[in-house]
Amino acid sequence: MTDWRTRVERDMMRTFNTPLAMLTRGEGCHVWDADGNRYLDFLAGIAVNSLGHAHPAFVGAITRQAGTIAHVSNYFSSPPQLELAERLKRLAGAGEGGRVYFANSGAEANEAAMKLARLNRGDGTRTRIITLENSFHGRTMGALALTGKPALQEAFHPLPGGVEHIETTIEALERTIDATVAAFFVEPIKGEAGVLDLPEGYLQRARELTEEHGVLLIIDEIQTGAGRTGEWFGFQHAGIVPDAITVAKGIGGGMPIGALITFGDASELFGPGQHGSTFGGNPLATATANAVLEEIERAGLLENATKRGAEISDFLRSLDTDLIEGVRGQGLLIGVALSKPIAAEISAAALAHGLIINAPNATSLRIAPPLIIGDAEIEEFTGLFRAALAAVDA
Ligand code: PLP
Repeated sequence: MTDWRTRVERDMMRTFNTPLAMLTRGEGCHVWDADGNRYLDFLAGIAVNSLGHAHPAFVGAITRQAGTIAHVSNYFSSPPQLELAERLKRLAGAGEGGRVYFANSGAEANEAAMKLARLNRGDGTRTRIITLENSFHGRTMGALALTGKPALQEAFHPLPGGVEHIETTIEALERTIDATVAAFFVEPIKGEAGVLDLPEGYLQRARELTEEHGVLLIIDEIQTGAGRTGEWFGFQHAGIVPDAITVAKGIGGGMPIGALITFGDASELFGPGQHGSTFGGNPLATATANAVLEEIERAGLLENATKRGAEISDFLRSLDTDLIEGVRGQGLLIGVALSKPIAAEISAAALAHGLIINAPNATSLRIAPPLIIGDAEIEEFTGLFRAALAAVDA
């Protein structure tokens, strides 16, 4: 049998770096590779595996639904689809006027949101879409246009037009938001930028300005949603009501699914025939997301995210090292700010010690474990993280 690395080199499109390991199995907060090595998974597939691996609620829902009806076309609805739409509206606080569009990924949810923005034309002069520098909204052409990272866009111009990226300051917002803007896209915490928090009062001011000028406030909850920050969605910490949010990752717990959820008048912008997807909202994906969200609710995992997030952040702050400059994020989306560009070295050392975390950039580590972690996982994490840090410091 050819070595898996050779097979990756030979058969896989070169869109990613060489994989770190060949993972073959997971259970709870641990995964195993093809050589039998065990890892504590404190990345959860980048904020995806909310219930960890092979959780009975996840496995049971998929198995039951696959044996009942897995897929129907968009000519039909299904009970799990309507149940999930209702549940997402309730959890997001979208109320009576809310609506849900189902997609298959985060980028696709943002594509739908970008089309929603185009429909907010007003008298035809609302053509601009504003997002933040250093933001991440996905890799498809529309989502890439929203993404505020020129290095990712460079090879793919021309991208869909009309998107401008601004600094993450209230002053920049105040200078930019006016009646020529269709929508403002923002992540409550910039995960891919290294888990960067927004300035104090930012979302509240964004809501005031967008409301004043008829601009859609669209919050990208793809990384922050599904309870990860200790609320169902990150915007809820700010006590505002947006016009739309996009979700994916953690709501499926490993089942590919995304959604655009609208609030109030924004729910009336799309009409029949204006958007669609073969797989979006199919019974298999929606039944799984229902089970994942139900389990998050039943097991009190929002509270757990808050409590365990504080424990991990306190531990990181207590470490006697000048390699760590600060701790960012909220709940179980945690960023470690490093004093030197050694994030890749630390995450490699962590992996070698049996701990999965990642380095979104040279000076930041991201920690995003399953929401189910308890005392045992935290204790194991603190030991492995200390060891990784010591290995790099040495
Ligand atoms: N938006 C945010 C905030 C993300 O973190 C991501 C993925 O990392 C995306 C959008 C894109 O999601 P996907 O990779 O499912 O297309």
